[in-house]
Amino acid sequence: MLTALRLECDTTPDLAATMKLQIPALAWYRTGVGEWQRTYHPNGRGVPVRVEADHGGLRFTFRTSAEEALLRDVLISTFRNGEQVGAMALAGHPALRTLRRHHQGMILLNGSPFETLVLAILAQGRPAEAVRKVFPRLAAACGGLTPQRLSALPLPRLAQLVRPLGEVKASRLHATAAILTRRGATAFDRLIAGSGALALNYLLSLPGVGTHTAALVVTIINNMPDMVPIDQHLMRVAYRLGLTDHDGGLTKPGSRRVAADLLAYGPDLARVHPLLQQVAYDTCTAATPDCRRCFLAESCRHAARTAGARV
Ligand code: SF4
Repeated sequence: MLTALRLECDTTPDLAATMKLQIPALAWYRTGVGEWQRTYHPNGRGVPVRVEADHGGLRFTFRTSAEEALLRDVLISTFRNGEQVGAMALAGHPALRTLRRHHQGMILLNGSPFETLVLAILAQGRPAEAVRKVFPRLAAACGGLTPQRLSALPLPRLAQLVRPLGEVKASRLHATAAILTRRGATAFDRLIAGSGALALNYLLSLPGVGTHTAALVVTIINNMPDMVPIDQHLMRVAYRLGLTDHDGGLTKPGSRRVAADLLAYGPDLARVHPLLQQVAYDTCTAATPDCRRCFLAESCRHAARTAGARV
């Protein structure tokens, strides 16, 4: 018997865009046209869940089980109760309004703390599709990812599971899981749910977690309104769009300046930063931005300047 759960949205959900980002999209994978799946492990038992867009909302289906209420809570939280980019406060700059309109049906998913940390480490420097393949096998081998279950996995078995992403990740994950296990079953969740600065420092103390990974994890989990993880791609797009006037290198003061400039447009900039990063990968490359293909061209400072220069 199957249970169906429906989540209402303001506009038709754009699942393809939703699943493209966020390490990527917390490891849901495509199973058919417009249909995605991942397995959750409430109480250690694997329950595959399917999701598809359905008449202005999302429709989840999964096997009916005793864990149904738990699963419903997880899904509603992961999909932020249906809140979409179209409802975000992104009106302070023409480029942000264009971004909001273009991605209005997208949902920026909310990750559980430990899973998000594991995914962030797995994804460092690795392609999204490879992460989507490794993550379900790893989660299934553990019966759901918790620090305790991951640290109990023998290191050679862990190395075998994550090998497509590089074996060095096995030792980092194992060491991180062991540290978190020693600190107590719920200590990580509690700490990470607290203040952004505390969570960031705690993450930075873990093996394999650098500044960017830590900030990324905190923004996905905590929805921190005052933190944007800056890298050279985000910096480049922000400058070209005219969201910042800093076009220097990726120094600490430079990163702080760009983050402050972005957050001056409002706290939702912290949440939508992956959309700007994606523009950097898709069209706004370092060498030659492909403005003719970019949906932001109508409101982009760089595109306007170069179009003027060509006339
Ligand atoms: S219009 Fe061109 S410069 Fe502006 S964000 Fe798009 S690709 Fe980059």
